[in-house]
Amino acid sequence: MQSLTKKNINIIFYSSEIDKYKGFKEFIRANGIKAYSPHHVEAADDSIKSYIRQYGSDILNNCKKEYTFANQVRHKEQDYKCELCGHTGLSALYLIKNKITGKEFWVGSSCIQEFGLDKVKSYTNVALEMAFSQEIPDYDELITIPDTTIVIPSPLYSELKKRITELEKAKKSFVNEKSHISESIKRREKVLETRNKIDEYLKDNTDNKWAVKTEVIEWYKRLSDTNTDKTTASVVMDRLLYTGIYEKSNVSEVLEPNHKAHLIQLFTDQYRDTRYKFSTDQSGYLFMSTVINKKSIVFKVDELKLFRNYQNELIIGESIQIDDIKPYVNISVTIDNIYNFLESCTDNHLVESFSITNDFLLIDVPNERKLLKVEPLSQALDILKLNNNITDLAKNVSKVSNARHYKKSYINKNVNEVPSLKTRHVFTPVEGIHYEANELFNQ
Ligand SMILES: [Zn+2]
Repeated sequence: MQSLTKKNINIIFYSSEIDKYKGFKEFIRANGIKAYSPHHVEAADDSIKSYIRQYGSDILNNCKKEYTFANQVRHKEQDYKCELCGHTGLSALYLIKNKITGKEFWVGSSCIQEFGLDKVKSYTNVALEMAFSQEIPDYDELITIPDTTIVIPSPLYSELKKRITELEKAKKSFVNEKSHISESIKRREKVLETRNKIDEYLKDNTDNKWAVKTEVIEWYKRLSDTNTDKTTASVVMDRLLYTGIYEKSNVSEVLEPNHKAHLIQLFTDQYRDTRYKFSTDQSGYLFMSTVINKKSIVFKVDELKLFRNYQNELIIGESIQIDDIKPYVNISVTIDNIYNFLESCTDNHLVESFSITNDFLLIDVPNERKLLKVEPLSQALDILKLNNNITDLAKNVSKVSNARHYKKSYINKNVNEVPSLKTRHVFTPVEGIHYEANELFNQ
């Protein structure tokens, strides 16, 4: 070593290692803490000169080993000066401490690397990270998306996400000494501003019965793409996410169970007519029962159609009157209900039998030795629902996709071989058909 920098002198002079070389220490004390040029070194006593020339690097290395990072950082100013090398314009300083002598230096990020510390980078990152936590103690809370029961309108939600990302970036940049803490503080204010707007929105709307619940979004995500409920809801989903509030034009499109239950509740509260009685089953489906010709008949309600037609009344809370219920209901297909329904129909003596599982109705054709098989049952019931007249149904049979005549003799001959005939529910035994005792009572 021919010369020594001011930094070298600082490190050496404040170490305990130098005590092994008394003359060297005295030499520094006499000349002061400064850079020693070859000329200075040349002027020293021979013994000092040879120490420096032969062992200077080794002594310096041994001295450096005495220093460690003291886990403290300064970052508030933009123009720090390194106490070892005198470098200015630094945005952060790290504290280096001699483990033996206790001497401390505030140094820049490049001088701290001199000390051969393992992972010096992550040490300083951690120190800055800790400094960051002191400046912005609510950071974790700020970057967490709030868990809410109602949907945060998407413009607010996106703004929050964007500002959180910016705060996260600012932190990263600060920890890597690429930005000042003021940048992070500014970003924190922005996040807070949006969070306050969201709090305000939540305060105003949490009790709003038309605020879109977050469970609707979860429900929508879980539905398979082929589910018709999803297809229906998809039309209005973007708007609901954007505004967070239902409007009368889209209140009916979402059939998420709780929302649907809410609509059903409102509907039954607002519906005043006593002709129809509405109720739900265990799965939450809406049913209507009514008495036709003294028989109580149960109908399954097409909820989407019904709510769509009355969404205006639902949203403003007006009473609901139904002039014609037929478009919204379908007969509930259970054996008892079909019996009751057929009993309510005119000319029902013509109905020989029906089958739910095989989906048909057998009608006696007067003056012919034939039975008319009308399928599918659901369509036949639908037509009957409109006019309650079996003779009319037989006349309008072309509207039903599959209708065929069967000779009574054919039915008698095949009743034991054709399962659908054997298991049909006989409604009115007709002349010309042979009934086994059990067949008559299979209802
Ligand atoms: Zn320095």
